[in-house]
Amino acid sequence: MSEVGSEEQPLRVAIIGSGPAGFYTVSNFLKHKDIHVEMDMFDRLPTPFGLVRAGVAPDHQKYKTVTRAYDKSAQSDNFRFYGNVAYGDDVSLDMLRDYYHQIIFCTGASSDRNLGIAGEDLVGSHSATDFVAWYNGHPDYVDAQFDLSQESAAIIGLGNVAIDVARILCKTDNELKNTDMADHALEALRNSNVKTVYVLGRRGPAQAAFTPPEIKEMAELEDTDVTILVDEATIDDASRAEMEASGDKNVAKNVAAIEAMSAASPTGKGKHLTIRFLVSPTEIIEKDGKVSAIKIVKNEAYQDESGGIRARATDIEETIPVGLVFRSVGYRGVALPEIPFHDAWGTVHNKAGRVTEESGEIVPGVYVAGWIKRGPTGVIGTNKTDAQETVACMVEDLKAGKILNPGNPDVNALDEFICAKQPDVVSYEDWTKIDEVEVAKGEASDRPRVKFTRIAQMLEVLGRE
Ligand code: NAP
Repeated sequence: MSEVGSEEQPLRVAIIGSGPAGFYTVSNFLKHKDIHVEMDMFDRLPTPFGLVRAGVAPDHQKYKTVTRAYDKSAQSDNFRFYGNVAYGDDVSLDMLRDYYHQIIFCTGASSDRNLGIAGEDLVGSHSATDFVAWYNGHPDYVDAQFDLSQESAAIIGLGNVAIDVARILCKTDNELKNTDMADHALEALRNSNVKTVYVLGRRGPAQAAFTPPEIKEMAELEDTDVTILVDEATIDDASRAEMEASGDKNVAKNVAAIEAMSAASPTGKGKHLTIRFLVSPTEIIEKDGKVSAIKIVKNEAYQDESGGIRARATDIEETIPVGLVFRSVGYRGVALPEIPFHDAWGTVHNKAGRVTEESGEIVPGVYVAGWIKRGPTGVIGTNKTDAQETVACMVEDLKAGKILNPGNPDVNALDEFICAKQPDVVSYEDWTKIDEVEVAKGEASDRPRVKFTRIAQMLEVLGRE
């Protein structure tokens, strides 16, 4: 009998999730020319690419060009896409074990972290990740409501998502109209009344999580003046020593950009962005049932026992009137049915990508890659090395014979099963048709695409009811 991984008996791999980690799993496997592998990718949406489509800012198209490489992987004869098929609803772990030798979850981090302060759940207080999904046209968020009739908004956090949200709120229609932002968001932002935006960071400029191109771009906005208080832009001695010792160029560039921005004077532009450092929110204040202000406390930097620079509250408080709050303190992974989950970390228990029980015992044949494996950190490309590590484990396990023993590894039987469960399954070819229509609609208005934001619209393009 032939071995699994041979042409006669291909290794059958199920990939759950079609974002960067899913596609880098495919490309890593394709590099193993000695293994004959068939990969089936499942996504609960009809559209692939995860956060590249629904998370990357619409005015940062260059980051989206990675999908060209994903398209290339998808053209492989060894690859098939089952879009509009949800793990947990349409397919279960038991079912996957019946069709595949290995199963890998690349489901990302689709929720967000809380602040744990009073008023967080008030009307007008939102997760930044919801806002991002809304302006990017994610079908789950089309009907979300953000009251952009408010004049002021505060964004909590100093990561790239906080900067994305601030930039989108500050940009003019002229700066947004040629992007692939969802039409509903373009329209709402065109009519936005938001003129004053605060970004509130709990630590100093040397600890900011954003990257240099993102912060520098804030000084180039068409109709927004940026204010950074000189005393908050000046870093403390311990931070400077740490920055110099680490030689981290990104930190040095961030600090230099912030110092330069703090030296600039307002030029009378229509909107105003203030970036604050060493302040923490303590309460979101309510009036008439919704957000009316945010209370913050001034922090001081100190060095903990491990040498890290942390922030602690002083007794200096401030209240900033705002009608909108976006908390942007990190994404969070969501537990998957039947997969051991580390709730405190928001990740699946794993060792180098091999899923384990809480005890550390390996769960045979089940793997993870991307944010659900390591948490929501790094840039898109970080998922390449992350997937490479997991695929190496999968190949090692294949060679050691530590794979599942599916009763039904037949592709046609799988198709029959999926179609019975989800008649509106979307193949990669189907997605290509949706893509072509979106791109064609965009051409008329000099935009990369006009996105379909409802699943029914996407299925209609495919001639489905
Ligand atoms: P992030 O980079 O982890 O930043 C989270 C921010 O929230 C940090 O500044 C953190 O401060 C702050 N924070 C956490 N808990 C807080 C609290 N209780 N109170 C106040 N502040 C708090 O997360 P993200 O911005 O969501 O981004 C996620 C990942 O996607 C990152 O790797 C990011 O680089 C990436 N991304 C990249 C781009 C791009 O390349 N353009 C765009 C978007 C996202 P501390 O440092 O003090 O903990």
